[in-house]
Amino acid sequence: MANEQFFIVGTGFFGAVMAERITSQLGASVTIFEKRPHFGGNSYSYLDRDTGIECHKYGSHIFHTSIPKVWKYINQFTDFTSYRHHVLTKHAGQVFAMPINLFTINQLYQKNFTPSEAQEFLAAEIARDKLSAPKNLEEKAISLIGRPLYEAFIKNYTKKQWGCDPKELPAEIITRLPVRTSYNTNYFADTWQGVPKDGYFALFQKLLDNPKITIKYNCTYESVKNELPKSAKIIYTGMPDALFDYKFGPLNWRSLKFEWETLDMQDYQGTASMNYADLDVAYTRIHEFKHYNPERLAAFNCPKTIICREYPETYQLGTEPYYPINNEENNKLYSLYAEEAQKDPRLILGGRLGQYKYFDMDKTINNALETFDKMLKNNL
Ligand SMILES: Cc1cc2nc3c(=O)[nH]c(=O)nc-3n(C[C@H](O)[C@H](O)[C@H](O)COP(=O)(O)OP(=O)(O)OC[C@H]3O[C@@H](n4cnc5c(N)ncnc54)[C@H](O)[C@@H]3O)c2cc1C
Repeated sequence: MANEQFFIVGTGFFGAVMAERITSQLGASVTIFEKRPHFGGNSYSYLDRDTGIECHKYGSHIFHTSIPKVWKYINQFTDFTSYRHHVLTKHAGQVFAMPINLFTINQLYQKNFTPSEAQEFLAAEIARDKLSAPKNLEEKAISLIGRPLYEAFIKNYTKKQWGCDPKELPAEIITRLPVRTSYNTNYFADTWQGVPKDGYFALFQKLLDNPKITIKYNCTYESVKNELPKSAKIIYTGMPDALFDYKFGPLNWRSLKFEWETLDMQDYQGTASMNYADLDVAYTRIHEFKHYNPERLAAFNCPKTIICREYPETYQLGTEPYYPINNEENNKLYSLYAEEAQKDPRLILGGRLGQYKYFDMDKTINNALETFDKMLKNNL
């Protein structure tokens, strides 16, 4: 297999892990085409020259996993800090703790419930709407958490996030909404969590540090595909509709806009991630990156801070696709592209774009490790 020619499209976690495995385990060479001027995909980060603050260019990325194989694998390339993610949300001029927990419930209802009192109270709230067969996302959410919590924290946030009324979204999008009747405000429940000690940039540098890996930046697959040898193996982590010239029609996505600002103050919001649950502001959250690295004292205590407002946007061809819109129509369309890809034994579709599915970083790494194992088994 060392003589095989491998071409990878994209340097996000899927492409980078595949490149690392193929070069280190098979001794083969890999060329990666990356349309952006940097590696790392959406998990990329850089150090701001002025402040030394590590900025996550495509929005906050916190690593969390309960998959032992992934944790063991990724720790070969980085140590992690002990950062624990907490999210706050602004609603009606007040700051509440997320996901909904006993602090949130007591604050919204102006109560002092114990856990069992809160459970009993919420059950009665849910029963008030009598929604045994919810027909859409709104009804489903109310059947899970009751109307007041839904209207305060889910309704308008979802409207901004998906650009439509929750009544127009299918009930199946959510199976559960995390509601805790304890004071646990940890955002993630995974066994392991943190951010890479020296940053995502350093992590990707190490993953891709093999003389057998060549990366061509500012280079789209579309611009080189006709020059590749017919026998080459292609691992493609871009959009499947673009790969097949949109022959079945374009897939739909949700896009994002990031608005950056450096402020002359040490601390803007006192936390890394503040959600905005109401419609009076168009953004869904503000990231303040220095809070991801309180252990880096010079940057943390610097008299400046960097914030980034995240605005959900309608996707148009040419803008960045961030979230797949997994409704019935799009899923059907995707399966046509997936079937088309399966006809070509040289081609593997992978990653969050290639598989038209939202994956956290750990699931993406796991998918890449499993894809590599399958490739070996099938003697590709
Ligand atoms: C706003 C946001 C926040 C997130 N936060 C978290 C988090 O906190 N924790 C977590 O675990 N996960 C988080 N994620 C998910 C995480 O970003 C993904 O799991 C991860 O990026 C998936 O890696 P990937 O390789 O599949 O895709 P990507 O990282 O998107 O990489 C794909 C790469 O392929 C390149 N590419 C695409 N098409 C072409 C082409 N035709 N030619 C050449 N190059 C191409 C792109 O430029 C890109 O670099 C978040 C995602 C978003 C959108």
